[in-house]
Amino acid sequence: MKFLIATHNLKKRDELQRILKPLGIDVLIAEEAGVELTDVEETGKTFEENARLKALGGCRESGLICIADDSGLMVDALDGAPGVYSARFAGEHGNDEKNIIKLLDELKDVPNEKRTARFVSAVCCVFPDGRELVSRGTCEGKIAFSKRGSGGFGYDPVFLPDDVNGKTMAELSPEEKDAISHRRRALCAFAEKLKGQNYDE
Ligand code: IMP
Repeated sequence: MKFLIATHNLKKRDELQRILKPLGIDVLIAEEAGVELTDVEETGKTFEENARLKALGGCRESGLICIADDSGLMVDALDGAPGVYSARFAGEHGNDEKNIIKLLDELKDVPNEKRTARFVSAVCCVFPDGRELVSRGTCEGKIAFSKRGSGGFGYDPVFLPDDVNGKTMAELSPEEKDAISHRRRALCAFAEKLKGQNYDE
């Protein structure tokens, strides 16, 4: 079955494709599906609301089943920030370098034991007949004191997942990241919900 994914983030697209393919779901980005998607303003207060806005827009504009992910980093010492503002933490949408500099600066006086954080991914799938499926996944960890590694994207170079011994997310192979990631957990929960649905390919 083929679903449209509403994202312009190619690294995120790669992760979604890698994780969904073995679950029997092929995902196409707008260009591959031959449709043009208008940028959706992420005005929601939660990851779920933003994922829904993106999936609804994609489904409406394409007429295809559409999946969107909205994700981000929640840092306990910053009362959950940057949260839904993760991509634009330093002002400019998607500037990972500046976002990391700002994060490390805001945490510079925070000791290791108080640097707990989690990645969150909310996935929403909207069907042309109006049905909606929503799921969430998280990955617990801590914020490092400096950047390490060149894999992944976003805050990966400063995120130390609990499940991995001392490596940052950016030091993991794609397969190692997929095994523990918030996105993988949200998508597996989504795939479970999808099993109970009827839909035309
Ligand atoms: P979105 O595209 O609006 O969902 O923004 C997500 C933002 O959260 C990204 O730009 C990253 O800054 C951050 N983020 C989400 N998922 C990840 C991840 O797997 N690794 C690192 N950063 C992530």
